Amino acid sequence: MNVNECLMLHCRTEVYEHGACCDDCWNDRRNLLAALPDLYVMTYAMLTPGSRQQEINTIHVPAIDPAAPINLVAHDTLELGYARLSGWAVYASQRAGKIPPDLKVYTSGRGFLTVVQTLLAYDHKLALGGFAGSYVMDVWTAYRRLVVQCVSTEPRHLEPPCPDCGAATLITRHADEYAMCLTCGNRWPHSQLPKLRRQAQRMTA
Ligand SMILES: [Zn+2]
Ligand SMILES: [Zn+2]
Repeated sequence: MNVNECLMLHCRTEVYEHGACCDDCWNDRRNLLAALPDLYVMTYAMLTPGSRQQEINTIHVPAIDPAAPINLVAHDTLELGYARLSGWAVYASQRAGKIPPDLKVYTSGRGFLTVVQTLLAYDHKLALGGFAGSYVMDVWTAYRRLVVQCVSTEPRHLEPPCPDCGAATLITRHADEYAMCLTCGNRWPHSQLPKLRRQAQRMTA
């Protein structure tokens, strides 16, 4: 019999069908969603030389002008976040029996914030019906693209010893994309990082 594993990166948790995600990775999407508006603001500030952080509702991502210096990676990241998540926001609100948000709002920043708020309110409606895995993967993709623009991708040491071998050699890689033990080589997905950190608090308490 084939065993299906959670589709998220480095997650080995068994799931009931191919392409599904485990409960921990499903729950982790809310942490990712909550971080998105700030990451969007920080990424927007990198768009053009000399630009500064501004309130998300006032942000408008300009069309690419070949004559103007613009950070194309930052531009694509902002557009991709919106493109990946706006359809899900409409779908989640429909499934919740709500009127979908009007995304023809005045600014792209306000549109993005509306998408995130709608998902935080209604995305539990996406848990069933076989789309949870692809939805979580889209949240993850939007989050990862933004986070690597804004956060240091240097490895970071984690305090607790490895739960498998006991060595104090746990690190996270690529802006917390995953954790690994440098001694035994085991890996944990992003969704397990809170558990690893809580374990440290228990040990020092
Ligand atoms: Zn998982
Ligand atoms: Zn280890």
